[in-house]
Amino acid sequence: MRKPHLGILVKPASWDCNMACDYCYYRGVGALYEGVERPRMSPQVLDALCQQYRELEPSEMKIGWQGGEPTLMGLEFFPELIKAETRHARPGECWGNSLQTNGVLLNDDWCAFLARNRFLVGLSVDGPAQLNRIRTFPNGRPTHEVALRAADLLKKHGCEFNILVVISAANVEHPEEVFRFMVENEFHFCQVIPCTEPGGGRELTEHSISADQYGRFMTRLFDAWVDNDDPGFYVRDIDNWLHLYYGLSPECCEYRRDCSNLITIEWNGDVYPCDFWVSKRYRMGNVLERTLAQMLQSRPWRRFVADAQHRPAVCRDCEWLWACQAGCYRHRAKLGLGADQRPYLCSAKKRIFSHVFRKLDELRARPGTARLCKFLSELEQKVSAGAFGRPLSAGPDSASEPRSVAPASGRNDLCPCGSGRKFKNCCMKRVGAPG
Ligand code: SF4
Ligand code: SF4
Repeated sequence: MRKPHLGILVKPASWDCNMACDYCYYRGVGALYEGVERPRMSPQVLDALCQQYRELEPSEMKIGWQGGEPTLMGLEFFPELIKAETRHARPGECWGNSLQTNGVLLNDDWCAFLARNRFLVGLSVDGPAQLNRIRTFPNGRPTHEVALRAADLLKKHGCEFNILVVISAANVEHPEEVFRFMVENEFHFCQVIPCTEPGGGRELTEHSISADQYGRFMTRLFDAWVDNDDPGFYVRDIDNWLHLYYGLSPECCEYRRDCSNLITIEWNGDVYPCDFWVSKRYRMGNVLERTLAQMLQSRPWRRFVADAQHRPAVCRDCEWLWACQAGCYRHRAKLGLGADQRPYLCSAKKRIFSHVFRKLDELRARPGTARLCKFLSELEQKVSAGAFGRPLSAGPDSASEPRSVAPASGRNDLCPCGSGRKFKNCCMKRVGAPG
């Protein structure tokens, strides 16, 4: 039912967030925990999940700390998690941690801690200010400056980070501007995800993008990457397309037809499959009551893996099946589509693969000294020699000595949300222990 190297996403503050982005796919999770205002992970749940994960995983522990907004746990929580990981590690063993954040609470203390403990940070920002307008504070104020300030701090402390761009109606017609934003700010690593069912439901909204828009965005983004002629800029989908083109195994689940290597652990220890599927139907149990090993034998998990494996009939004879794998399960099963209907992003995928692979053929055939051609030629030689490694190593590999830390922002500083009130009288009230 599962191969080694299970990745886990942990949601220590669940859906809770200090921003109010209208398109957030995780907002809807609050409905599962009615009456809970400030979900916060307890030390017992933290210890149990580290212990069980360690018992289950033979070699490569990788935890993604996400939300909502995980920094709402307060910086005090994170040295505790390093201690819990260290407590359960075997001698010489390494854990990799990543943190997905909106950057609001990041300051020097946070960034020093993240750099010292080799967290890989994902910073959410959707491009230049005018394309980032859905990402607002609860009072409606824009967040763009805050994200750029967080990026500067991460750079200052030498923290490894990438940016996460959600493609929504706000930026979908501007892929070149999104790419230029990356280059101008020297954001060398980027991941994009399409906003199709905002709020995590099954409905399209005004923020959703169509398959046609997605296909155009991704092919133009690829062209912008080619024209920039600098393989030092990494876009996750492009990296996966290169893997496919050269016959290598892509790392992203969407291109692997494999939804069985990822689980989500919620603030109270509840366990679900991938975080697009945190729902009653797929709840596998709780780490305070059952082990992860038991839960990976449970009926909800087996049901999820079987559901996600199903391919619509329309895909079976498709020329792109080898690369597309019928796409992400959420784009097949949500949005009111039946199990055997055409996946929501189907036309986009056809457009992307035919455009990208044709262009890669051309680049290979084109003589010249352009950096990209040189990069592709070297890549091809490495593949032929069987010596290829992934261009991006995502894994921090050690945990250093934890220390106690100061609050995330000065108590008496102005709140980063721009309310004009002191931090202690505004968003600081949401940081830390359960309320
Ligand atoms: S549902 Fe989509 S995102 Fe989730 S594991 Fe499957 S392919 Fe990946
Ligand atoms: S391109 Fe469309 S038909 Fe082909 S495998 Fe992908 S989703 Fe299925």
